[in-house]
Amino acid sequence: MMQKRLKSRHYLTAGERNVRVLKIECPECGAKAVIRKTNRKHRQIADIYCSCADVECGHTFVMNLTFSHTLSPSAKTGDAMLQQLLSTMSPDQKQMALDLLKATPAA
Ligand SMILES: [Zn+2]
Repeated sequence: MMQKRLKSRHYLTAGERNVRVLKIECPECGAKAVIRKTNRKHRQIADIYCSCADVECGHTFVMNLTFSHTLSPSAKTGDAMLQQLLSTMSPDQKQMALDLLKATPAA
């Protein structure tokens, strides 16, 4: 029996309500496919091993997942950059940065 009316959020438990799950369709028949395995080759590239959920199809295939671009930069990256920059500064440069920060009104 088909359950097409059921939206994906009905499967999610509390706390996951706002999480959008990646939906994969079988490229052969268009039915929903299930992720069986993820082979992460790089932080920005992964092979997704999928199998079609339609038993009459049974297609198994690999999809590629790649990072595209940043919309809003990571706060972690920014902090790490700042720490690295500060560690390379001379005492005079640190004092100059401190003076500049004091002169700049807090946002
Ligand atoms: Zn299929």
